[in-house]
Amino acid sequence: MRIDLHAHSNASDGTDSPTELVANAVAAGLDVVALTDHDTVSGYREAAAAVAGTGLTLVTGAELSCRVDGISMHLLAYLFDPAERAFGAERDLVRTDRFRRGRAIVERCRELGAPIDWEQVQRIAGQGSVGRPHIASALVEAGVVATVSDAFTADWLANGGRADVRKRETDPAVAVRLVRAAGGVPVFAHPGADKRGRTVPDQVIADLAAAGLGGLEVDHVDHDEPTRARLRGLAGELGLFVTGSSDYHGSRKTVRLGEHTTDPAAYEELLAQATGAAPVTG
Ligand code: AMP
Ligand code: ZN
Ligand code: FE
Ligand code: FE
Repeated sequence: MRIDLHAHSNASDGTDSPTELVANAVAAGLDVVALTDHDTVSGYREAAAAVAGTGLTLVTGAELSCRVDGISMHLLAYLFDPAERAFGAERDLVRTDRFRRGRAIVERCRELGAPIDWEQVQRIAGQGSVGRPHIASALVEAGVVATVSDAFTADWLANGGRADVRKRETDPAVAVRLVRAAGGVPVFAHPGADKRGRTVPDQVIADLAAAGLGGLEVDHVDHDEPTRARLRGLAGELGLFVTGSSDYHGSRKTVRLGEHTTDPAAYEELLAQATGAAPVTG
């Protein structure tokens, strides 16, 4: 069983349509793929239709933007009921604020001399939940930086960078409870990704575990081996399951689907905890 529990489509900042993501997951030899777009479920319907007849299993999910003690972090949520009101309203608030914040970042880039504009960013983002990677693509188009990754520096879009503007982000303990109340399973995404900015102390992870966190994403491209070992130990202490995932973004990042995978036993544990939705098997 090859299980990849974290992938983005163009419903957020990936470059594959949900249909293309499903086809690429099949081509990568995956048995299970999770669609985890930022703060939205808008790719579900297309992805679910695309798995029919492929043998691939689709786990529906989302990646919610959170912040605690001034530190931004991401919470993956799996198999929640997408129609449940309270968690839906929270996703809407975060996603809507991405527009205000996107415009503000573009303004800031222009002040700093980058010849990009909001129409261009909207064209790049399409219907997707707009984020810094779309603005990074605009900066690449404008010749300001060479790659999307090069836009995530202190000069431009990195956390705390010259053109970084904050968006509304949910308190993770609140988010964990919202996900559980919607029948979903919350998993802390890349908790040790320190290249992106500050990461939360272990005590915060312990507090989230007490609030209902289900798992930790340990095998991730942004974690080195010592970080993985430390997080695996912490998960064991706190009774959390451990996942591994690619965090695929199509051509916007270099990581490949299935580059990291989740142990079938951890996947079974996730399924056992989920009551909001069932995986869609093609
Ligand atoms: P946003 O959700 O708009 O705050 O943008 C955050 C997203 O930018 C993350 O989910 C990643 O997909 C992407 N990102 C963050 N750091 C980097 C980086 N160094 N290189 C490429 N993409 C990044
Ligand atoms: Zn992303
Ligand atoms: Fe993330
Ligand atoms: Fe992600």
